[in-house]
Amino acid sequence: MAARLIDGKALAQTIRERIAKESADLHAQTGIRPGLAAILVGDDPASALYVRSKQKACDAAGIYVADHKLPASTTQADLLALIEKMNADPKIHGILVQLPLPKQIDSKVVLDAVSPAKDADGFHPYNVGRLVEGNPLFTPCTPKGIIKMIESTGVAIEGKRAVVVGRSNIVGKPASLLLLHRHATVTVCHSKTKDLPAVCREAEILVVAIGKAKFVTADMVREGAMVIDVGSNRLEDGTFVGDVDFGPVSQKAGWISPVPGGVGPMTIAMLLDNTLESAKRTAGAG
Ligand code: NDP
Repeated sequence: MAARLIDGKALAQTIRERIAKESADLHAQTGIRPGLAAILVGDDPASALYVRSKQKACDAAGIYVADHKLPASTTQADLLALIEKMNADPKIHGILVQLPLPKQIDSKVVLDAVSPAKDADGFHPYNVGRLVEGNPLFTPCTPKGIIKMIESTGVAIEGKRAVVVGRSNIVGKPASLLLLHRHATVTVCHSKTKDLPAVCREAEILVVAIGKAKFVTADMVREGAMVIDVGSNRLEDGTFVGDVDFGPVSQKAGWISPVPGGVGPMTIAMLLDNTLESAKRTAGAG
């Protein structure tokens, strides 16, 4: 493999150890233990798995978790009532509502009901606005993790040609803003982009978040580019792969993040980081 690996799993572990220490220090100095409300509605196995791994990571980092598992039949009014309770609970500094929500619930209404001051995922319009301004309060976890991964390589973002493939509100758009604020020249691509391979080949930093297994092939990648693969796709044989065709692309890229062990663990570490930062703000120490 020609490319150097961006080991998200190892980086996330280092960050989680730092969070555990800072969490313990905050508790010792102020009596405040960072707290996360984890709300899961329904019994989608993938969502349950995500929430469990987030809870495990919180436990290991000394972050208190208020675990709320609600039945698939939960009404929007009941979920909003729970969120109101968590908004008012002084033990809680971050609220995570695991998506997707069941059909009878409007996700937008629910995410907008989370207090912007406890919006650990950074999805509330107030936090989106702050992010656009370049003055974020909570930065969405996956894009924040992507930036930390890029920074961990020591390669400067400033002045680079960055291409982000995917324009979702949770990954593509915020990732492109974070790169822009770090002075990259950013192009955002989507399903209507013409000649996507040619645009991707311009990228010195290529971030791919589309949800299509092995979609980005070696001919779409510039020699020596840094490739961050956000995709998380389960194949029929049960294995997880990214949106990038890792084998051939790793022969051409300068840096590449793997799947699994790349962006996924960093997303969880950033959720803990956002919760800790929020607790520090409450304590007046952030
Ligand atoms: P969405 O489905 O919300 O968005 C996908 C984006 O990709 C859209 O903007 C879409 O374009 C674009 N797209 C789809 N097909 C193509 C194509 N052929 N060419 C160019 N663009 C295309 O996905 P998410 O952003 O939520 O997630 C993307 C991937 O990242 C998924 O695999 C998801 O599982 C993974 N993910 C991983 C996380 C982690 O922690 N590891 C966290 C979050 C997501 P258009 O807007 O035109 O429809």
